[in-house]
Amino acid sequence: MRFYQLTRFLFPSSLRMRMFTVCFVGTHVPLLSFAGWQATTGRIDWSDLAVVLAATLVGTIFTLIAIDALMAPVRAATQTIAALEREQIDALGSVRDADMLAELLSGVSRASEATRMRLATLAVAAHRDPLTGLLNRRGFLAQADAVADGAVALIDLDRFKTVNDSFGHDAGDVILQDFAAFLARHVRKGDAVARWGGEEFAVLFPGTEDGEAAAVLQRIGNRLAAGMIPRPDGAAVTCSGGVVAIDGDPIDLAMRRADAALYAAKHGGRNQIRVTDAHIRLG
Ligand code: GH3
Ligand code: MG
Ligand code: MG
Repeated sequence: MRFYQLTRFLFPSSLRMRMFTVCFVGTHVPLLSFAGWQATTGRIDWSDLAVVLAATLVGTIFTLIAIDALMAPVRAATQTIAALEREQIDALGSVRDADMLAELLSGVSRASEATRMRLATLAVAAHRDPLTGLLNRRGFLAQADAVADGAVALIDLDRFKTVNDSFGHDAGDVILQDFAAFLARHVRKGDAVARWGGEEFAVLFPGTEDGEAAAVLQRIGNRLAAGMIPRPDGAAVTCSGGVVAIDGDPIDLAMRRADAALYAAKHGGRNQIRVTDAHIRLG
């Protein structure tokens, strides 16, 4: 890179002209040495000089044509990158006074930055639920995988099908969004809240005893039963929940146990939280 930078004063916006200049000077060294040597010895032989000059010119022309041809892939790559990022070039800033190689390098760096940003956006999107903005199941499991000590909960809205049936799917969606925001507001910062699927939500309570996690859910359930998120007809939306200690179990096993506790809460009459076997009635 140093020689490239040092020679930038020669045709700063044309790499081709710069290479031509360097080649031209390089291929003329034998001719200049020969002429200099003849001049210093005083034995100038014009016919020898003419032959060397002609050979040098032929060599120079061949070198220039060959170098131009050899640079074809670089030229093609530069054009491809320029075409690729034509849509983004305004946002990212165009390269002024840049020769082909500088343009190629800066194009590659812009393209890789744009790709990195796109991958980061995709990685975030892959872990988020688009309706509620909460983590989705995959995002939740990725976070929960690293937690061996704590509790997990599954919460399911009660009789949600009747909300959709009576007031339409859009009204159901609004309730899901309101509940997601409500749930996220009512847990601690280090806890993770996710939409597990449909009208079912999961909460990870790292470093928390199951009883403590159940108390948090109980507060949430009681507020909900008190009409915190009413249906369009004014009736309270209620939820049921299952809480279990992780106890060093793999997360999928802990979630299965939480699901069993949730199932028990549903069968126990809904609007209640189950902590493994224990039973807390809400409302
Ligand atoms: P339970 O108390 O036993 O949980 O009864 P439920 O009606 O809530 O449960 P069920 O599994 O019978 O129905 C779940 C309903 O949740 C049905 C489905 O249409 C609704 N649902 C799932 N995902 C969405 C969604 O993204 N938007 C809306 N509006 N409704 C959804
Ligand atoms: Mg339900
Ligand atoms: Mg459900």
